[in-house]
Amino acid sequence: MTTPAIEISDLRKSFGSLEVLRGIDLSVGFGEVVCVIGPSGSGKSTLLRCVNLLEEPDGGSVRVGGVEVTDPDCDLDGLRRTIGMVFQSFNLFGHLSVLANLTIAQRRVLKRSRADAELIARENLERVGLADKAGAYPAQLSGGQQQRAAIARSLAMSPELMLFDEPTSALDPELVGEVLAVMRSLAAEGMTMMVVTHEMGFAREVADRVVFMDGGQVVEAGPPADVLGSPTEARTREFLHRVL
Ligand code: ADP
Ligand code: MG
Repeated sequence: MTTPAIEISDLRKSFGSLEVLRGIDLSVGFGEVVCVIGPSGSGKSTLLRCVNLLEEPDGGSVRVGGVEVTDPDCDLDGLRRTIGMVFQSFNLFGHLSVLANLTIAQRRVLKRSRADAELIARENLERVGLADKAGAYPAQLSGGQQQRAAIARSLAMSPELMLFDEPTSALDPELVGEVLAVMRSLAAEGMTMMVVTHEMGFAREVADRVVFMDGGQVVEAGPPADVLGSPTEARTREFLHRVL
């Protein structure tokens, strides 16, 4: 059996007395797209954040490319370099041009030369349809363009997998489609992706598997046609009834 890209078993996390993750088991294969859905507060963001150790698990195991992230010997910086993360808020540096936003970490973290970093930045701006915006500043871009630039910035770091936490939730409705289109093309290129989303159409069309979380547990997981089309659990049905 080949090593999964992400392998989570019996993952537990509490904040004080609040048990936020109560024994999560989940694996994501290389090239697989897994969409995580569920009500607000169910632990979706915490789950993603445990994968790159933005949150430290209290128990269980998280392996990325076979490496246990909680192992004290784990090269955390090296691990984080292999994982791209895109948040709801785009977090671009407002005082830097789009091009500089895409080159700064390449230069500082990956030690790429200016010429290499700029070439890779431009390739990735092209990839998200922003080739003509390299010289623009974030405030000059629409929300959808800013989020696409943030995705390009992650891609410029040559990640092996990408985590998305509600990447379209902060966008005006008319701008959601352009960001989903970029994510769809990434999926088609074979990128390994874990996507927390409320976009059920995207999950249905793009996900290999959909995971429904509630109360810090995986309630139901499977192909989108099953989980979204004919869920077996009452909690999944209730959730879908509310959002669809
Ligand atoms: P979701 O992304 O599904 O909305 P989260 O993972 O963000 O859920 O949060 C799950 C629960 O954990 C919520 O009740 C939230 O308030 C709580 N929580 C998340 N992060 C923290 C934190 N750093 N400190 C305390 N509580 C937190
Ligand atoms: Mg969240």
